[in-house]
Amino acid sequence: MVMGLQALEEQVKRELEWLEYGGPEWVPHREHDGERVLDVVIVGGGQCGLGIAFGLLRERITNILVIDENPEGLEGPWVTYARMVTLRTPKHLTSIDLGVPSLTFRAWLEAQAGPEAWEKLDKIPRADWMAYLRWFRRVLDLPVVNETRLDLIEPLGGGLHRLHLEGPGAPAKTLTARKVVLATGIQGGGEWHVPAMIRESLPKRLYAHSSERIDFAALRGRRIGIIGGGASAFDNAQHALAEGAAEVHVFVRRGRLPRVNPIRQMERSGMIGRHAALPDADKYAVMKHFFRHNQPPTNDTFARAAAYPGFRLHLGAPLAGVREAEGGVELETPKGRFRVDYLIVCTGLVSDPALRPELRLVEPHILRWGDVYRAPEDLADPMLDRHPYMTPGYSFLSRDEEGREKLRGIFAFNYGALVSNGVTASALSGMKYGIPRIVSAIADELFLDEREAILGRYYAYDEPEFTGMMEDE
Ligand SMILES: Cc1cc2nc3c(=O)[nH]c(=O)nc-3n(C[C@H](O)[C@H](O)[C@H](O)COP(=O)(O)OP(=O)(O)OC[C@H]3O[C@@H](n4cnc5c(N)ncnc54)[C@H](O)[C@@H]3O)c2cc1C
Repeated sequence: MVMGLQALEEQVKRELEWLEYGGPEWVPHREHDGERVLDVVIVGGGQCGLGIAFGLLRERITNILVIDENPEGLEGPWVTYARMVTLRTPKHLTSIDLGVPSLTFRAWLEAQAGPEAWEKLDKIPRADWMAYLRWFRRVLDLPVVNETRLDLIEPLGGGLHRLHLEGPGAPAKTLTARKVVLATGIQGGGEWHVPAMIRESLPKRLYAHSSERIDFAALRGRRIGIIGGGASAFDNAQHALAEGAAEVHVFVRRGRLPRVNPIRQMERSGMIGRHAALPDADKYAVMKHFFRHNQPPTNDTFARAAAYPGFRLHLGAPLAGVREAEGGVELETPKGRFRVDYLIVCTGLVSDPALRPELRLVEPHILRWGDVYRAPEDLADPMLDRHPYMTPGYSFLSRDEEGREKLRGIFAFNYGALVSNGVTASALSGMKYGIPRIVSAIADELFLDEREAILGRYYAYDEPEFTGMMEDE
């Protein structure tokens, strides 16, 4: 039976009513320059930003705004630069529904295509995931403005931050907020990584990082080189071949492809939800192990790529040199020299607050793992050391007294939180654990900031509840 989307939307409203969603806000108003400041601004309207907004509304923190730099409906990677056919994650993981059954992807799919469609579904097509996210935003009427980019967080003192905005959708040049949540994506804790050798040796027209838009039509009939052995290398390989590339050569540093995906084990073992409770030594070792494995390609993506006659895999082929040659790119590897017309760089991202332009006024104060924990020699890794050392509620901590006030109220729900809080932020597998925690941490901070006013009202409260009378009273 197909219930239809409209009936599902009515069910959502009913379930939310049953859960007493939408009660009055409790956070006392705060003004700056004669105007009410926003209690929370969430930067990023992808899945995490939307989920956090819903979580805050459930906590009756309603004076909030989500901003996103993209046009409406094009937030995040799903229909912009992701090139796999389906999500890599198992279909049954729940996430931003925050436990409301009618808000799950499954409810959304079954309402339109029936329960058989769910049974038949292998993994979620990425365009469907994006359509679900658009629906989630619409059905909850989340306060999102698009085409608005955060350029800078300027701490004003007194628990306020001035946010400098850019973009045609920006409601103003600046907004003042008490709390800022950076739900800026997996690269939002740093930047996409392009090896210096490529950046310094090639003109930009000859290569792109996998996170960029690429004109595949222009590459029809051409030879493409791909650097990297993780999931996105093969996503891009199969996509380029499907779009008509003549040959795709994937160059992998390791002698074997990664085969084990530690996330699948973490999903089952309780590790994702409980990572934040681990001692520092375990947190560090767990993430070192995670990076050692890297994320393998999915079987379907690999099979899709390998089915094309133009697919070539070069294992044990780290890049020893690269240069422009005959209008294309010459690559030097231990497996020989190769000439390709264009290079797609699938080397992931690096997390480091020093790389974030919006944090430039506060970044020197941010406490890093390298400041707090010295890993044993066989595990020590400067890349892990650069990660911020965060609270379980996704707040930065300060290296010094001066930074404490500046950083208070800034939360980062992106991959920068990986060592401190595990695979919870910016990862489908972990959002259902991470979102309630960040929401609770924001609510605690707002409550403590307003403790005097709230407790004052509590002590002054004298509204009678009991109205019965005894004759001799
Ligand atoms: C290609 C690709 C495929 C992936 N596939 C999977 C998968 O199959 N399964 C899985 O579990 N995970 C996957 N991930 C990991 C993760 O789930 C996604 O990255 C997901 O999009 C993270 O959600 P998010 O809300 O944190 O970030 P995003 O979806 O990236 O949303 C962040 C938003 O913030 C905006 N933004 C950033 N900075 C600013 C700023 N300064 N001002 C305003 N807006 C800003 C961005 O443009 C973006 O719209 C994938 C990641 C990538 C890159």
